[in-house]
Amino acid sequence: MKYEAVKNFVNGEFKTSASKRSLNVISPLDGNKLSEVPMSMAVDLDEAVKAASAVFPYWSKTPIKERVQVFFRYKSLLEKNLPQLAQLCSEENGKTIGESVAEIEKCIELTEFACSLPQLTTGELLEVSRGVECRTERVPLGVVASIVPFNFPSMVPNWTIPNAIALGNCMILKPSEKVPLSAGRLAELLKEAGLPDGVFNIVHGDVEIVEAICDHPGIMAVSFVGSTKVAKIVYQRATSHYKRCLALGGAKNHLVVLPDAIPGMTAQNVAASMSGCAGQRCMAASAMVGVGDVDHIIDKICDEAKKIIPGENLGAVISEDSKQRIERFITEAEEQGAKILVDGRNAIVKGKEGGTYVGPTVIDHVSPGMSVATEEIFGPVISIIRTKTVDEAIQIENANPYGNAASVFTQNGGMARYVIERSSAGMIGVNVGVPVPREPFSFGGWNESKFGVGDITGKSSIEFWTKLKKTTVKWNAESGINWMS
Ligand code: NAD
Repeated sequence: MKYEAVKNFVNGEFKTSASKRSLNVISPLDGNKLSEVPMSMAVDLDEAVKAASAVFPYWSKTPIKERVQVFFRYKSLLEKNLPQLAQLCSEENGKTIGESVAEIEKCIELTEFACSLPQLTTGELLEVSRGVECRTERVPLGVVASIVPFNFPSMVPNWTIPNAIALGNCMILKPSEKVPLSAGRLAELLKEAGLPDGVFNIVHGDVEIVEAICDHPGIMAVSFVGSTKVAKIVYQRATSHYKRCLALGGAKNHLVVLPDAIPGMTAQNVAASMSGCAGQRCMAASAMVGVGDVDHIIDKICDEAKKIIPGENLGAVISEDSKQRIERFITEAEEQGAKILVDGRNAIVKGKEGGTYVGPTVIDHVSPGMSVATEEIFGPVISIIRTKTVDEAIQIENANPYGNAASVFTQNGGMARYVIERSSAGMIGVNVGVPVPREPFSFGGWNESKFGVGDITGKSSIEFWTKLKKTTVKWNAESGINWMS
């Protein structure tokens, strides 16, 4: 075991869970055991909520300009520790070092946004009648929770940590049990940056702890990022206790490729989108709908895919289960008559035989009803569906229940606009394979990719992490009494 056993982080200290149950943390890169993670119990959560509740009055009353000073320092610490954080991210998640560096760089960008929050939360004031003023201000909710998935061990926690905490909340983070190590380093850096003990806490675990978070009366809001199946459970359970909840789910992102698209650029974008982070991104291209004659573009996509080598510029998928599941989808598509143009099954990386790798896979002539065309695969696989018209392509894209992202590849602006207007997805790209909105724009899909109102990052997150206080003030007797005040 490379690292010591993972502990919870409560009131500024690492703490052993009351639970005797734990899981192994395995590196997908080579199958080696990295650590063990406790499957905490409700009593561990309760302790963390108590610590967070105790410090909330102090933290929420600390002026926001003071609160963000912690995040200016945290940003510098992320920069200083970037190589080590990226190394840890790669080890526990299986992504390449380059992808891990990009993940930490994104954490820095997210923190920069949080540092700008005083500028975005100034409130409003207006004299609404003679001598009478109305004023609005944003106030924090209290103790909030953030439940996160395995695919971005640092970035997804940082979608919520800087904004929620800079806005005055205290937080309980529940990391994915598959990648629990990075969160501990983030806690250490927050402490080093001067965050008071108890403002940020980590409780590790699985279903039991997620349920306890949804049920705990001391937690005011829950943000969740993960699969749609669990997003629905969490959204229902948390809101049934009258908590505010934003639950981001899975995705099946379609790229509509028109024959006039620039072949080289399109091929590079499609290949990078489907294979980046081994296809384990909620923004990954999973289906490509080729309209008309796009054979010349598909040839180039295959050329690009063949340059993507497992263990070199392609990381591992999270587990053996996941590898087998992805390969089953490919085999099923083949059996149903689809054509495998580039086959990533049975990938082995020399010297890392225990790693869980799937090579880039391009499947052509997929029909819209095949499971490879409808299910979220979460591997480096692109399914190509052929259509005659752009309307047919849009209809296929909108028929899937998700709505995270979609892209169109064309040089015709009018055509791009036509697709944008008709796509039922929250994040749309034009000639962009991974249309992630960058700060200050907010991140969030539609349909079964998100439950709740608003988005999780950017300006939209301000609404989620705060409530609006409205104050009406009369300053002197001359104001008199009128019909409103
Ligand atoms: P997951 O849903 O299995 O797990 C997410 C979290 O929920 C984890 O912390 C896990 O411990 C917990 N959990 C798992 N099963 C649970 C259950 N039955 N009850 C309560 N809690 C449970 O997701 P994952 O496999 O870690 O991550 C991959 C998924 O996340 C993909 O579907 C991907 O699309 C999605 N994702 C979505 C976004 C987005 O922005 N929409 C971003 C990243 C990942």
